[in-house]
Amino acid sequence: MAHATSEHPASPTPLRLHGLSVDGVNQCVHCGLCLAYCPTFAELGTEMDSPRGRIFLIKSLAEGRIALTDSVTEHLSLCLDCRACETVCPAGVPYGRLIEAAKAEIERQRPGGLVRRAFRWLNFGVLLGHPGVLKAAAAGLRFYQASGLQRAVRKSGLVRLLPGTLPAWEALLPPLPASAERQPLPALIPADGARRGRVALLSGCVQSVVFGAHNRATARVLARNGFEVVVPEEQGCCGALNAHGGDHARALDMAKRTIEVFERQRADAVIVNTSGCGAHMKAYGALLGDDPAWAERARRFSASVQDVAEFLAREPLRGPLHSVPMTVTYHDPCHVVHGQKIRTQPRALLAQIPGVKIVDLKESDWCCGSAGIYNLTQPEMATRLLHRKVQNVLATGAEAVVTANPGCILHGSTRRPHRGRSDASCSRSPTPRRRRPIRAAASSGNCSMPEATPWWARASCVTSRPTSSASSGTRAPIPRCRP
Ligand code: SF4
Ligand code: SF4
Repeated sequence: MAHATSEHPASPTPLRLHGLSVDGVNQCVHCGLCLAYCPTFAELGTEMDSPRGRIFLIKSLAEGRIALTDSVTEHLSLCLDCRACETVCPAGVPYGRLIEAAKAEIERQRPGGLVRRAFRWLNFGVLLGHPGVLKAAAAGLRFYQASGLQRAVRKSGLVRLLPGTLPAWEALLPPLPASAERQPLPALIPADGARRGRVALLSGCVQSVVFGAHNRATARVLARNGFEVVVPEEQGCCGALNAHGGDHARALDMAKRTIEVFERQRADAVIVNTSGCGAHMKAYGALLGDDPAWAERARRFSASVQDVAEFLAREPLRGPLHSVPMTVTYHDPCHVVHGQKIRTQPRALLAQIPGVKIVDLKESDWCCGSAGIYNLTQPEMATRLLHRKVQNVLATGAEAVVTANPGCILHGSTRRPHRGRSDASCSRSPTPRRRRPIRAAASSGNCSMPEATPWWARASCVTSRPTSSASSGTRAPIPRCRP
């Protein structure tokens, strides 16, 4: 057994949760600078719902000084993993890695009841792990929506009989596009004009079946700008949703598979147009850093990953560019601005479009509440943050909000469920508490626009809505249960 000497002091035991290093907690100097940028602290005002408080909890957990009680789980689960705190931290605390380790530990210790475990297995293991099954499920959902069955089921109230959070999931189902739009991109899209290079495009899992048009547009713009685009047919999910949801083991497998598939393409860069996937793939180096067989490959792969805006903004866009006479504002998705530190490039691209006028959005880099599956697991907080975002959007007077993440678009495009509790596995009743009121309501109300209209476009409806929450001064409590 090794003994400490004055020349060789014993190194402290590395702090780990679920096998993941959380040594970064020791970098926190408790300065509190991050508190003013944390959306959950802004809404709740409690130290344990701030980055500093959560870092303290994670450190205490890793040191074995506290147990994963209901209360600890709740404070950690309410974190959006938006990483705004990471951006402003002067000490460089790697907060994103810490909270992902904590969430993986929560899943290990508190997997929940049978329904919840089965639902997680269906989502993380079956749908995200098998692109063919995901495509079949998308076709089934498209039939459910387009045939009128969804309308009938909702009208009948049958949805409310579903267990756990399934009613919330049903309410937030995105509108599935027709089959033509869900078809895969060609494996190779040649460059237009003088060739500038070869890039590989991540078509994504959910992105490819819900936002196929966005993928097509991305490939078209890359090709028009002189890049040959290769779209590997065998690619699958990058593992971002699994990692954010605490499903660490599958996230590792998905990362390795993604590296293998894209390495074979011999491309100059791997292009990603979904922010959560891009931020996660850029972190493969850290994710697989402890695995000698993969560490170097993962690091090299991560260095080749680029967000599409980051990549295209390196040089002026090839013309001719058509005029789009419109006033727009830009919402920074968390995993673009905080996860990848990309702030100026999307605005620089927009500024190149003739006719576009960009106006500033207050708190443009604050989370809108989408945050992966957060809007399903923590619907009330997600809605509070969406209201806050809508108010800021309204104040700009913009005709459209441009953003770069499908999750943000979906979060505002669907009906908001907020009845009852946030999770089927919650084992106790939430204690009613007085909460600070939300200043204005935003979702459906007296808006005459269809429910499916994106919230970006519904902004004008909100102005005419009375601020009922503010007038009553009392809010339903945030359901303090784990996702
Ligand atoms: S800003 Fe960084 S060092 Fe300061 S309290 Fe927050 S996490 Fe800790
Ligand atoms: S990740 Fe976001 S919600 Fe979580 S502590 Fe940091 S700023 Fe707050």
